[in-house]
Amino acid sequence: MKAAILEKINEPLVIANVELTDLLVGQVLVKVLVSGICGAQLQEIAGHKNNVKYVPHLLGHEGCGIVEKIGSGVTTVKVGDKVVMHWRKGDGIESDFPKYIYNGKTIGGGKITTLSEYSISSENRITSVPQDTPNELCALLGCGLSTALGTIENETNLKMGESVMIIGIGGLGINLINAAQLFNASPIIGVDIHENKREVCKTLGVDFYINCKEENIQETLQNKFGIKGVDVIIDTSGNKKSLEETIPLLSGKGRYILVGQLKPGESIELKNANHLFDGSGKSIKATQGGQFSPSEDIKRYISLHKAGILKIDNIISHKMKLEQINDAIDLVKKGQAGRIIINM
Ligand SMILES: [Zn+2]
Repeated sequence: MKAAILEKINEPLVIANVELTDLLVGQVLVKVLVSGICGAQLQEIAGHKNNVKYVPHLLGHEGCGIVEKIGSGVTTVKVGDKVVMHWRKGDGIESDFPKYIYNGKTIGGGKITTLSEYSISSENRITSVPQDTPNELCALLGCGLSTALGTIENETNLKMGESVMIIGIGGLGINLINAAQLFNASPIIGVDIHENKREVCKTLGVDFYINCKEENIQETLQNKFGIKGVDVIIDTSGNKKSLEETIPLLSGKGRYILVGQLKPGESIELKNANHLFDGSGKSIKATQGGQFSPSEDIKRYISLHKAGILKIDNIISHKMKLEQINDAIDLVKKGQAGRIIINM
């Protein structure tokens, strides 16, 4: 079967044939229908995910598929089920690491990978959903959409009418905007380095947009929009400069949530860090996938989508084939994409 393989760090992915291995206890063979591309894959390609020693490896961690075969002990899914493929742990067995054979060598990619025609998954990384659930929705629920909804629900303690600033308007940023809107945040401020994101934010109904390459965030907030401090700031960029510039912009009760990861070994410097004590207990938190719980949350999110409350049309910017994976990754890198769906 065909798979996208990270053969060398910082090089284009290779599309090649890999062989499946026999299913072990708690493993499930899934025929992948679609997969998303997440910032985590860009970090893996750059070797920033402690993955250098594992190359070559498969990748991808948000997908939709159909269960083709189950290994012994598997009870939560059956052959023919449509499943969300996710990296957070859900119900079922945590299996050993799935293995594949590539050029005569055994390779892996983690308990779940999605950028291949078939995937061997650990039972607890897939969750059954109704057959009529749209494939793209399933893929987005594997990471991007669920992380965004979980971050807003579980990490921000967001109150109606509080201000939210989202830094980095890629796929995850757009999901976060949708989630903040569901919670009636106001105003919502989008920040990015690309001018084309101004239009994206406008279409999404974001109140204010700042191009931080051209405008100083603090000055623009204060002088142009009359905002002194922001209640919730969510950074998806993992950019050192951006963190240093925006942590001081928290309101007195402000919560700063790190979604994007800094590079390994990187430090940040907070000028006059004492400002963290002006207020009623500001906080800075690094989230782990918004504490999204696949077994509990996927069902709720699907019903929200069915009811027309949770929309995904504005999240997906491109639909491409597995063979176009490197073009897709370039689009994400250049900031020209929302979420890209890869069709197997
Ligand atoms: Zn992800």
